[in-house]
Amino acid sequence: MASTRGLLIVLSGPSGVGKGTVRAAIFKKNIFNYVYSVSATTRESRPGEQDGVDYYFVSRDEFEKLIEQDALLEYAEYVGNYYGTPIQKIEENLAAGNDVFLEIEVQGALKVRQKMPEGIFIFLAPPNLQELESRITGRGTDGEAIIYERMQKAREEIELMQHYDYVVVNDEVEFAVEKINSIIQSEHLKVERV
Ligand code: 5GP
Repeated sequence: MASTRGLLIVLSGPSGVGKGTVRAAIFKKNIFNYVYSVSATTRESRPGEQDGVDYYFVSRDEFEKLIEQDALLEYAEYVGNYYGTPIQKIEENLAAGNDVFLEIEVQGALKVRQKMPEGIFIFLAPPNLQELESRITGRGTDGEAIIYERMQKAREEIELMQHYDYVVVNDEVEFAVEKINSIIQSEHLKVERV
């Protein structure tokens, strides 16, 4: 059946993997005219960030109102601040046939997966994850507590990947962008969308 609904693309991954950089590079190229889903946050704006472009900067009270009004597709608390995805613009754009791009942390992405399983979930992984794991398990140079902590972290990251459709290793930003654009291109060519 033909479908003109836009694609919901969710880019996520562990903290520090470079999601923001990859997202910025994707929008610089902007091959597919993605609509960026601007999140609401209670954190302070950083120099150069614009309200309504990078984030909607809101107070805690305002954010809690958004939660009460069911205006968020998901939200999460991250390092003491709220971050959430306003739902209305997403719905409007998907219905109008526009692709919508979300860049959010892992807990939020898993909540979106539950609500909108038709989305395309891309896990941005650090380049040395597999290597890291074999290094942690294979060598006995670190102290026991450190080995345990690092293995836990690596395992958590690997397990979370299973909830995603694609894994893109962020070795070089340029390559990661190419891979993500290829994924979207393939998704657009799926028989059920033609
Ligand atoms: P930052 O404060 O560095 O801009 O973002 C911190 C983290 O929050 C990043 O991992 C970013 O992907 C994530 N983030 C940004 N917006 C949202 C959102 O709407 N929901 C969730 N769950 N995470 C978000």
